[in-house]
Amino acid sequence: MTENTTTQLIQEVIDYLIETDIQELSDWGDRRTEWLNQAGEQLKGIDKIISGDLRIRKDNGDIGTYPAFRVQHNNACGYYKGGIRFSTGVNKEEVETLAMLMTLKNALHELPYGGGKGGVHIDVREHSDRELKEVSRAFVRLVQNDIGPYRDIPAPDVGSGAKLMDWMTQEYKTLHPNQPYINTFTGKSIQSGGTKGRSESTGIGTFLSYYYLVDTILENTVEVDANYTDEKDLITSIGEKENVRVAIQGFGNLSRAAAIEAEKASRKHTVIAVSDSRSTLYSEEGLDVKELAAFKEKTGRLPSEEELVGMNTKCDRLNPDAVLTLDCDVLILGAIEDQITEKNQKDIKAQILVEGANGPITKKADKYLTEKGKIIIPDILANAGGVTVSYFEWIQGFTNEVKEKDKILENMSARMKDVSTGVYKQHFSSIHKESLRFLCFKLSIIRLVDMLNRSGN
Ligand code: GLU
Repeated sequence: MTENTTTQLIQEVIDYLIETDIQELSDWGDRRTEWLNQAGEQLKGIDKIISGDLRIRKDNGDIGTYPAFRVQHNNACGYYKGGIRFSTGVNKEEVETLAMLMTLKNALHELPYGGGKGGVHIDVREHSDRELKEVSRAFVRLVQNDIGPYRDIPAPDVGSGAKLMDWMTQEYKTLHPNQPYINTFTGKSIQSGGTKGRSESTGIGTFLSYYYLVDTILENTVEVDANYTDEKDLITSIGEKENVRVAIQGFGNLSRAAAIEAEKASRKHTVIAVSDSRSTLYSEEGLDVKELAAFKEKTGRLPSEEELVGMNTKCDRLNPDAVLTLDCDVLILGAIEDQITEKNQKDIKAQILVEGANGPITKKADKYLTEKGKIIIPDILANAGGVTVSYFEWIQGFTNEVKEKDKILENMSARMKDVSTGVYKQHFSSIHKESLRFLCFKLSIIRLVDMLNRSGN
């Protein structure tokens, strides 16, 4: 494993835990430092990587070749679990980092899973459904002996969705008819054993992770340490606004659901901007989110200038990156990694940034924004709604008890509330000044180190 910002932060947390006499580790005795160092080394490494080139016959008769990876990072807390990304950004290092984040996310949210991630280097827009199906099947043939309901349970991620999970499940069923194939993948369509609400879950959970942050402060249920007075004041001022202005990067599954959830919230929120790879749509009065969502679901993109003419939404059409630097209160990053960097960090006007995507803010930009007093809700806390509903789907595969959508989303929201409120309470009452990201990593790592020691590996 090469060093990256995630391994660096893991090391920082391990060093902190060695130096600081925190209560959670007080019964570990003399071997504390040794155990922490060992666990740190293990978490900075990778359990297993399965990789290879997928080859398919394309519609035009050519052979297409697509590098593919499944990274199993760590299974101390349970079976490897995480999505499979179909994107041109995929490479081994990216998938390794994302697998690590899954381990930390699952540990933080107390799900019975370790972390894994898959990726195929492919431009989905350049391929027909038949070609994508062949690539999905080839992916399963590559990883077939390393996945399974008690081993590694893949799910959708950027560029993949229920359709791909269904194709993968079918291929796995053909190859292993006697295995519990339904539970080998989550994020499937309802017809193939999926749960209702899975596609909206990540976006809803992402919005809620921010909403509960404001609730925690407005409800006055936590004694705020002097370290955090500025954060408290900032959150209070946003919580007391008559209208909170939200900009959302992306308009895929995650961002659409986050936008719809924002408009439903009991404190008034207006979605002033959304974006895709071609444009940002911006209106100070607010966009007609439902209309745009319906358009996107039909066409796979946001409307062009001409298409906007006949629509309810009256807005300006700006460049795709404009969404990041608009004047707004809350910015939800729902696209991909490395979107806020040293280049645009000084132009960010939002006060609260929510990481719906994994790793959208680089380490340097994170430091800069935090020093500027902005609040960042980190990916491993904010975007766990999807894997939480995956967990419900996995349980459903064993019990065959199908739950209604409202019930599933209610259960997901309750778990998100529990975990995020727990994090926020610790954060604001802490006598150490630390970022939410550092705290979330710390909580995950404490759980992981404990599990690694118990299992003796
Ligand atoms: N790809 C999603 C994530 O990054 C979901 C993973 C899952 O459901 O296993 O959390």
